[in-house]
Amino acid sequence: MRFLQNAGGPLRRALPRAHLSAAGTTSTKVFKRFAFAGRPEKVEQKLNQARALPTTPARTRFAPSPTGYLHLGSLRTALFNYLLAKATGGQFLLRLEDTDQTRIVSDAEQRLYEDMKWAGLQWDEGPDIGGEFGPYKQSDRLPIYRQHVKELLEQDKAYRCFCSPERLDEIKKLAMANGEDMTGYDGHCSHIPVPESERRAASGEAHCVRFKTHGSNFKPLFSDLVYGAYKPPPGSVDDFIIMKRDGFPTYHFANVVDDHLMEITHVIRGAEWLVSTPRHIGLYNAFGWKSPTFAHVGLLTDQNKQKLSKRHGDIDIVSYRNKGYLPEGLLNYVVLLGWSPGKGTKGTSEVMDLQQMIEKFHLRFTRGDIRVSNKLDFLNNKHKSKFLAQSPEDLQAQVVPPLSLAIRNLEKERAHLSAGSPQLSEDIDNNDNTAATLGPLVPAMAPAADANADPNYNAIYIGQVFALDQKTYVNAASYVRRNRYLFWTVPTALYRQTLLDALRELRHLFVRTPAAAAADQSVEHTDTEMDAASIAQLFADALRDIPADEASWTKERLEEALNPLIKSIFAVRQEAQEPWGFHMLRWFLCALQPGPALVPSMVVLGKEETMGRIQRAIDSIA
Ligand code: GLU
Repeated sequence: MRFLQNAGGPLRRALPRAHLSAAGTTSTKVFKRFAFAGRPEKVEQKLNQARALPTTPARTRFAPSPTGYLHLGSLRTALFNYLLAKATGGQFLLRLEDTDQTRIVSDAEQRLYEDMKWAGLQWDEGPDIGGEFGPYKQSDRLPIYRQHVKELLEQDKAYRCFCSPERLDEIKKLAMANGEDMTGYDGHCSHIPVPESERRAASGEAHCVRFKTHGSNFKPLFSDLVYGAYKPPPGSVDDFIIMKRDGFPTYHFANVVDDHLMEITHVIRGAEWLVSTPRHIGLYNAFGWKSPTFAHVGLLTDQNKQKLSKRHGDIDIVSYRNKGYLPEGLLNYVVLLGWSPGKGTKGTSEVMDLQQMIEKFHLRFTRGDIRVSNKLDFLNNKHKSKFLAQSPEDLQAQVVPPLSLAIRNLEKERAHLSAGSPQLSEDIDNNDNTAATLGPLVPAMAPAADANADPNYNAIYIGQVFALDQKTYVNAASYVRRNRYLFWTVPTALYRQTLLDALRELRHLFVRTPAAAAADQSVEHTDTEMDAASIAQLFADALRDIPADEASWTKERLEEALNPLIKSIFAVRQEAQEPWGFHMLRWFLCALQPGPALVPSMVVLGKEETMGRIQRAIDSIA
């Protein structure tokens, strides 16, 4: 595997202009790995036929290694395989490829199940649910691999290699020092006579088993659904290991044995596996098995055409979930990375739920690297609107935990700042100064006493705030920022500052009494000019008598009490007057920050908090 990594992926290795032919003469033929242009029409036609959906049920699998978490690229692989199985009435399998025991991440398996379930990609057979072709975890299949290695040894298609790791390192270094592309195994142990090999193995000498790739048996050519005819670059396939010294099979071997025994018909996977496929084909041939149909889908790159790597925490699926994206939105986003429901489909016609994706699925993938798009927010929003119309409670249940998380992040930052510490902890994902504009959390955010409740905050209250402004929801962090003053109080200094900023352009505020309004008298002469504090006081007076209980502190009662007042407040800008009642309300409720409708917000904030805000606003300019 190591030299494959050095090569930097299938699409990046330089194409050799010439190479030594078997006879030792220099061939001038340019080796075309991917005939992107000018592919003969017949070949293209054949490929197109193959790209139609199979007419028989496809058995597909998603075969992650538990060495990390699900990320964008692997979710896309899982989704494509899922869609193919479902579109043809076949089965979608989950197989855990845990042969590299040294790299296992302890909670990766559990997280895989959770993330796949969250995404809605339910498997038909798998390690946790079993199935006819199990076990589905490779570490539980070791006797099967041993049996198959034995078969190849007996047929002289594989041999034991007793080379020490030090020797292998040395030959690799030497090859690199000589500038050779090929740094694989030199075939040293392939010459050991079988009886000697048997004897050494029986005496317990450490060894691995390698597959014989030299000789006429090895025909690695295959036709990929995406890339067409594919032949490994000359010298790129060495006698690779199929069974490691620790008795575990390698990925290549276990993968082939399992795909065969599990009757996998189609393998859709990332293009990083394209260079490995000739080895797999070699193994299928050696066993006399028919290989599945392969489709290698383009690698995901960022906007700068750099490969997206697992190291970017942001592409871990959980980070999307925590940000409050919906699984439907995320699946819709990834399905469009290298696939499209139809030529030229754009915009809303790209919005699909899982069922619609199944109905539209085909195998015509985009060839070459895929730059990730910026459609996620757009698509997520479309799915959110659909949810809102169909099942708002489900949406709320999905969105409250990420909102709670986003609040916690911002609250951590606010607490740091208010403790006078400029040092932010690393897990705070924030790059604006929102936290600096927040007072303490509103009392209603305090967690409920109930043992099942969110230990951090009051989830019911968060749900109520979500219901207020759900139409604008794109993701949890942006929602929390926009509606910050429904979660946090407004710092007193901000009242003063925002009012002064707003008043700077105004000549004055005044209340136009209903009597004056009815008589349509000139404002300047009849209305009472008042300062903001006393206008705010009028709001407090209008609300004072409404009881605080839920049945009384309602939208209707508040509107009834406030509407005449709101309508009577004006500001004068130059010579023109403009209504200013709602601005006043917005000022003391949320320091003039844009947000959802004000009276419903007051209902959610409750009487105590609303009255407190009016008072604090008055105090700020007193
Ligand atoms: N275990 C491999 C991975 O982690 C599977 C590759 C394949 O699909 O063959 O991606």
